[in-house]
Amino acid sequence: MTYDHSNIFARILRKEIPSRTIYEDDYALAFHDIAPQAPIHVLVIPKGPYVSIADFSATASAEEITGFWRAVAKVAKDEGLTKEGFRLISNSGANSGQEVPHFHVHLFGGTALGPLLSKKS
Ligand code: 5GP
Repeated sequence: MTYDHSNIFARILRKEIPSRTIYEDDYALAFHDIAPQAPIHVLVIPKGPYVSIADFSATASAEEITGFWRAVAKVAKDEGLTKEGFRLISNSGANSGQEVPHFHVHLFGGTALGPLLSKKS
């Protein structure tokens, strides 16, 4: 899948639209989800143009990959989630319901999060 430079997270990275930024470095941007599904719901995205985890893992440099995951863990720690725990989710492709085609990790916390997936018959 070709990267769409007009996707909403690309626009947030370019500061064309605002976000409630929590953390930013050379590799990652973390900001509050606009429609939170937990008391703490943060999105962490790499700075580069990657559609999905597969794209990111295959084409990002080792430095970008390390920097990104370090940022994810730092945000979890800085948000005070390390002790009580948290959940990371990354949607990829149609079956997951991925809405925004820029690789991102959802970081959920601040409460007991319940089962991983809702039951579906
Ligand atoms: P996905 O379904 O692609 O894994 O998740 C995309 C997430 O981005 C959703 O949780 C949605 O609420 C969030 N989102 C969509 N548009 C915006 C926006 O303009 N700003 C912020 N902060 N979050 C957004």
